[in-house]
Amino acid sequence: MLFKLKVAYYLIALKFNKNKYMDNISALQIKRWNKMQSVLKKSKFYEILVSQKTPLEAYPIVNKAIFMNKFDEINTCGIKLDIAYKTALKAEKTRDFTPMINKISLGLSTGTSGNRGIFLASENERAKWVAAILDRVIGFSLKKRSIAFFLRANSNLYSSVKSTILRFEYFDLLESLASHIKRLNALQPNILVAQPSMLLLLAEEKEARRLNINPDKIIGVAEILYQEDRSYLEGIFQQKIHQVYQCTEGFLASTCEEGNLHFNEDFLIIEKKYLNDEKSRFHPIITDLSRTSQPVVRYELNDIIKEKKNCKCGNKWTAIESIEGRSDDIIKLKNIAGKEIHLFPDYFRRAIVESSEDIRSYTLICISDYEFELFIEGSQEHYEQAKNSILEFLKSVDIHHIIIKQIKSIKVDKGNKLRRIRNERSKAN
Ligand SMILES: [Zn+2]
Repeated sequence: MLFKLKVAYYLIALKFNKNKYMDNISALQIKRWNKMQSVLKKSKFYEILVSQKTPLEAYPIVNKAIFMNKFDEINTCGIKLDIAYKTALKAEKTRDFTPMINKISLGLSTGTSGNRGIFLASENERAKWVAAILDRVIGFSLKKRSIAFFLRANSNLYSSVKSTILRFEYFDLLESLASHIKRLNALQPNILVAQPSMLLLLAEEKEARRLNINPDKIIGVAEILYQEDRSYLEGIFQQKIHQVYQCTEGFLASTCEEGNLHFNEDFLIIEKKYLNDEKSRFHPIITDLSRTSQPVVRYELNDIIKEKKNCKCGNKWTAIESIEGRSDDIIKLKNIAGKEIHLFPDYFRRAIVESSEDIRSYTLICISDYEFELFIEGSQEHYEQAKNSILEFLKSVDIHHIIIKQIKSIKVDKGNKLRRIRNERSKAN
């Protein structure tokens, strides 16, 4: 019961502060940053900066590698990385999703082995997270509702949403599609939460009339929701597809009534590291003012965010036009004059989807300085149109030497994230 009371308390606080500081969010951020000093004092990594009264902008920028290398010093609970890893991995192998050390929940992020992040959450942090998810994603209601939630691996964080009015059903991505369909038809979920690639499979099943569900709300998580996929899904499910931008480092953004993602600036400070001269794309550097067990201060994410100005909903918090992939997916190629050109994944996406209205599924993988692999679902004619469109685009930036090879499958492993435009050149490039 105590946990639910905490959630209720944080939910009220969240709504109250959002209204009070809506147009003056920096006042709330400053207040919370000052309050956070007592948390940072407990972190070996940050205590000296606190004692020197260091302003936020002078804190070191950290990335995933530093965050993990300095795990022992950064966290405020005295948890050691090797023990945390062992505990979390063991839980994942046995698919027992309740690993804890000293009442602190452990979560493991996706990634290649050895490159996986680990995150900690205390009970208070879990309650805050649940409150934020209820407020911004699921929507608070006293009506009984069931939620179908697709996940690669469960964690305490997600199971803590469970309550008498929310029936929370977990779907393991590694299970077969046929079993998902059967369970979904029986469950008739009010809310469906899944990766866009899974939503696409479900939409095909709905189109084929094997899946018969009509959720009130559909939310895409964990992968990029491409515009063309979104239009297709909205057509099949006859409703807006919402999104949550959430990663190991926290709950970052959710969609407004216009369907655009806004950063949760009431508990996040977002700094923008611009990636182009026009300042339209940036890497977010996040400071999470709600974290206590594992402080997240000036953490640079490698996602490429395209900013949206003036969302019609009226919320002034930074809005996102699209999340375009990660910085490693920016393809750097030399043009005819020997100048290195930075090609954002979105440029290729446009070249492909604008080549034909009928293209539904595709991937483009850069495998070397002169070779791309292209998969297009559909006829050979569609493939040729897409290929020519990419070559035309490359020519427009004076790149003439690229060879595009056709591949016959989408090349995504089950349980892995779908990234349609990828850079898979060896790291030496
Ligand atoms: Zn908006």
